[in-house]
Amino acid sequence: MSLDAQLYPDKIDISNCELEPIHIIGKSQSHGVILACSSQKMEITQCSENTLEVFSLPHEDLKGEPLSVLIGEEQETKLKNGFLKGEALLPEEIKIKGKSFLMLSHILEAQLLLDFEPLENQYDPVTFQRQLTRILNNLRSAGTVEGLCREAAALTWDFFDYHRIMVYRFDKEWNGEVVAEEKEEEAESWLGLRYPASDIPAQSRELFLKNRVRIIADVNDNPVPITPQLSPVTGQPLDLSESGLRGVSPIHIEYLQNMGVGASLTAAIVVNGKLWGLITCHHNSAKFLNYYQRESFRFLAQMFSNEIALRETNSFLEKTSISEEIREKLVVQINNKKPLLETLTSKVKFTDLVACGGGALFFNGELLLQGNTPSEAEVNSLIDVYLSKIKKGVFYTSKLSEDFPEAETYKKTASGILSIRISENNFIIWFRPEVLQTVEWGGNPEKKMSYNEEKQRLSPRKSFEKWSQLLTGTSREWENHDLNVVKALQENVRFVILEKQRNKIKNLNARLMKANEELELFSYGLSHDLRAPIRGISGYLKILQEDFGKKLGEGKQFVDTTLGLTEKMDLLIDDILSYSRLNSGEIQKNNFSVNLLVAEILEVFNVKMNYPKASIRVQDDMPEAFGDRRMLFQLWANLINNALKYSSANEEPQVEIGAVRKEDKIVYFVKDNGIGIAPGFQEKIFETFTRLAGEKFKGSGIGLAIVKLVTEKHEGEIWVESEPGNGAIFYFYI
Ligand code: ADP
Repeated sequence: MSLDAQLYPDKIDISNCELEPIHIIGKSQSHGVILACSSQKMEITQCSENTLEVFSLPHEDLKGEPLSVLIGEEQETKLKNGFLKGEALLPEEIKIKGKSFLMLSHILEAQLLLDFEPLENQYDPVTFQRQLTRILNNLRSAGTVEGLCREAAALTWDFFDYHRIMVYRFDKEWNGEVVAEEKEEEAESWLGLRYPASDIPAQSRELFLKNRVRIIADVNDNPVPITPQLSPVTGQPLDLSESGLRGVSPIHIEYLQNMGVGASLTAAIVVNGKLWGLITCHHNSAKFLNYYQRESFRFLAQMFSNEIALRETNSFLEKTSISEEIREKLVVQINNKKPLLETLTSKVKFTDLVACGGGALFFNGELLLQGNTPSEAEVNSLIDVYLSKIKKGVFYTSKLSEDFPEAETYKKTASGILSIRISENNFIIWFRPEVLQTVEWGGNPEKKMSYNEEKQRLSPRKSFEKWSQLLTGTSREWENHDLNVVKALQENVRFVILEKQRNKIKNLNARLMKANEELELFSYGLSHDLRAPIRGISGYLKILQEDFGKKLGEGKQFVDTTLGLTEKMDLLIDDILSYSRLNSGEIQKNNFSVNLLVAEILEVFNVKMNYPKASIRVQDDMPEAFGDRRMLFQLWANLINNALKYSSANEEPQVEIGAVRKEDKIVYFVKDNGIGIAPGFQEKIFETFTRLAGEKFKGSGIGLAIVKLVTEKHEGEIWVESEPGNGAIFYFYI
């Protein structure tokens, strides 16, 4: 035995039936034979132990034999070829020991799973055709979903002769409700009754998706074991999901017996890939329906599923288009300049968007209630304690108080909520009132099981007496079209908020730029206007100094100082002017020679006259630069001027100018052996009016600010390396 083989457990009762692996039950219903063979050798590997009763051949004799022993060479070849070509394997009529059977084949990877059903009534194409036509016509012309359900029940009743037909619809929690019924007159009606989800557990729902028609021919039958239990091919139990003869779970048998059912037939209604409901037929005694009749039933269920899907889609589209219209109007409103809370509650209100009793808007701590809602304090607490903890963008429930007990006090107005999160702590909420509902259960759903003395185990409930329950704290359910339209609104509001923020920033930026421009103009104008009177003052002072110097006596000293101050002021104004000109000027880039530019500057400075002690070394093949020559002239001039100025106190001032390659950039430098700059100030010196050198060196504190501005305008960088007393190197690239 393979170690990891999952086996059907020995003991199954109602307490563990949710885990019951019904697809590997390992048994066949006794009216037919389940047989497995290896698809490679076509050799019989497993079969149900009733072959003697059904085929008049002992099962021990069949195992290990070629399949042809049973079905003949011709059928075997047909099956093998079909399998090899990957074709759909059709049902085949087979004669074994003079009796007719229908063989239904399914492929299971390396195995073939074969069902042999007795074929008593021959296939009658005329009846079959008539049934299909009636199904098509009647289902198509049924108007509403309710009408469709009634029609499906009526057709099933007519065609297949069972004692009771029910159309059963699942809710979101998989409880089922009987929505249409056909029955014998004297039988009690089960219409409108509900059955708890545990009556049809998850794994049977799963199987219904795979194999949509299920027949239980005799509830009181003894299912026959399939042996050996594990497949010699795979080492695993045989997967019977596809088999129409699969044995029935003992729990389900007991459930049907408790209901007094002798046979059943069920088809799955699958809408958009999801189990929507079932059509279930009950018979008081054993009843078998052959394959062709079951195919009619399958067709009926398929048509019914299609018609339901069509109606649901149409109703969805209809509802969506109504709410879409309202949303569009809301979007026009919220694009308005007014505050968001106001735009969502003016002519068209956010509460018009989905069917609701009222709603709440919560933006930036401000709460606005609309229509029937819990109190402000209650809504605030709902947001604070509950909604803000839920990380979903869209959240909804139709039983709020179940998860948030505080809501019990206001369940009349808000048993249902639908909420969208606009941003971290901003919400739009819709409330739905409580809808009191009396639900009729087919038996008390709380009493799912009872202890069965005779079988010594827990059994499914015996009582299916009508059991009424008043449902409280529940609202109408939120539907898909509700969710879709609020999701779309969420996008819209988020977009509008972003757009409004973007506009705000844009406006602020424009105002800042304007203020900056005005300030520049102002400082330029001011400096410009100051210049004429200063020049006047300095002219008069010079006349005083030259022509009346002697008469002034000691006062001459004051005239000299004042003249010095006016010169300083003139220099300052010059620098401020060039700084503001730079700031407002457009940049015009060209290629130019840096060597020529430096030579020009040195000439302007008249270095030999002004700094006779200084020795200047200029690297003679500096790479050309690409930039605004006028601006870069100012940059170089300021750096060279500083180097000469701050080294002039040295015995042998040395200034070196050149370029180096650093990473992929050409970095120019100006080096001196002057007073140097303390580490803490090496960034600060680039700000306007920062001066460290004191009165000993003339200056305005603007030069390096100009240098920095020029590098920035050229998307470059400037920095200094220096030790106090040991000179400085200014590096920059553009
Ligand atoms: P200033 O007109 O004062 O030279 P700058 O903006 O050109 O104004 O320079 C700012 C300050 O940076 C100067 O006051 C000086 O303290 C320092 N500085 C600039 N260049 C040098 C240098 N090459 N060596 C030492 N200190 C310097």
